[in-house]
Amino acid sequence: MSSKAFFPQKRFPEFMRSIQKIHSSLTRSVVIDTVLKEGAALSGCNGVSVVLLREDRSASCKVFSHGLSETFSRGIPSLTLEKVRDMVSINGRAFFLDLPGCRKEGIQSTYCFSLKRGEEKSGILYFFRFQEGALSEEEVGLLSFFADEAGSALANATAFQEKERQIRQLNILNEATLSLSSEPSLDSLFQKLTDHAQFLLRSEAALLLLVKPDLKEIDQAYCAGELAAESLNLSEGLGESLSSVLVSQHVMNLRPEEFEKKTLDLPFSIQGVRHLLAVPIMHLESLKGLLILINRGKGGPFAPQDEDLILTYTFQTGLAIENARLQEHTRRLAVTDGLTDLFNHREFQRRLEDEVKRCARYSRCCSLLMIDIDHFKHFNDTYGHPVGDQVLRRVAGILQENTREMDAPARYGGEEFVVILPETEGEYAAVAAERIRKAIAGTPFCQSEGREGLAITVSVGVAAYPEDAATREELISHSDRALYIAKRSGRNRICRYEKSMMDLPVEDTS
Ligand code: GH3
Ligand code: MG
Ligand code: MG
Repeated sequence: MSSKAFFPQKRFPEFMRSIQKIHSSLTRSVVIDTVLKEGAALSGCNGVSVVLLREDRSASCKVFSHGLSETFSRGIPSLTLEKVRDMVSINGRAFFLDLPGCRKEGIQSTYCFSLKRGEEKSGILYFFRFQEGALSEEEVGLLSFFADEAGSALANATAFQEKERQIRQLNILNEATLSLSSEPSLDSLFQKLTDHAQFLLRSEAALLLLVKPDLKEIDQAYCAGELAAESLNLSEGLGESLSSVLVSQHVMNLRPEEFEKKTLDLPFSIQGVRHLLAVPIMHLESLKGLLILINRGKGGPFAPQDEDLILTYTFQTGLAIENARLQEHTRRLAVTDGLTDLFNHREFQRRLEDEVKRCARYSRCCSLLMIDIDHFKHFNDTYGHPVGDQVLRRVAGILQENTREMDAPARYGGEEFVVILPETEGEYAAVAAERIRKAIAGTPFCQSEGREGLAITVSVGVAAYPEDAATREELISHSDRALYIAKRSGRNRICRYEKSMMDLPVEDTS
């Protein structure tokens, strides 16, 4: 720098002490404070200000002052912003400024130096002199060197703080993704994912949209933060604007001017929306998702760092979702019968146990149907096992179609089925059993071109808790006994359990 020539050697020790002090902290506020105090001591000027330019240079700057009135200090950016922009670009020389308000403040002369971050100007350092007379060339040289050091100390503190912020965010990100892996269901995982995204970017609201494979229809939506449910309009579909994010797999970062164009086609009201960041969720195969962040908490637009952070988050989230889906699939396989897709025997026993316990605790009732296909051995012998398997699948379908959502049909084993009917007394269970029997008897099985449907019938035993049985085991054995009686009395019928049935000897029913 040209001011090098003016460095006053005799003030070197004093200068070094000041420089050491301003470099001794990495906290920005401490560095600024030290720059102001050391600057005042070194220059002999009573007033010192640090004016920091915003990164985009568009908005106003921040001012920190020492030895100046609050009113004057606050006025510095608006008075000088234009001039300062020009001056800062002239690079480091001192200028005499006759700022409005200086006289009133008692200021005789003003010197300003640019503060630099690398090659960029990051702000201005002002010295306001209240005494008569100008600073010497040497003093100006000294302050110029001081401004260089102040600029680099501030740049270090800013970089350090930015790194600290990134580490904090990465920790939150890490915790967020780790906690996702322990979510018990996909539904709660999606909600948590949305909550975390909002927290991570400190946005006013977050919205997760799960979209059908056509990339148009919205399957599910999860909200977090200040997004009123009534502002959502999901029935119309995703809209072109967001659909393009999914197609291109690129981030969309919208600023206020884009909302004014009114060409946006979004599935929610844009009232109050200033900034919007939409990110596709990566790593999902069958499911397409979109995470939308609305209005950054601090008011400004979403920055490139925000985009990076949320992209990393959605990338990891994609893995967590796939993982959860896999786990849910495995859990489902473990409780499902492979042939019929109904609950398997183990799951039936577990559910019946839960149901009987629930009934015992809350004095409620439930019933159990035990269903066995009539003469199925003969059917298999006649048409073959594969046709028999088709029948079993169709019977399972009829059971699903003829029971309520809360009922639990299951494959008990072989060609025997069971249905747990919660909140159902024996009398009504018999009605349900009869409906099922009729539906099966009225269905033409394995119908195809050139082949008439085959007839199948079932016999059903019905028992209820606590009417007919005191335990889960009794409920099973009593419905089984009723089934045996139904078989013995001619098949294709239902039979309700009666106490006297237990006295009858078991005979061959074939
Ligand atoms: P009943 O009217 O007395 O019930 O006569 P049934 O012939 O149906 O006798 P049972 O209930 O003992 O039926 C057992 C038969 O069910 C034996 C077997 O051929 C058939 N079966 C059991 N599991 C399967 C299966 O997974 N697939 C097929 N196709 N048949 C099965
Ligand atoms: Mg059987
Ligand atoms: Mg049978």
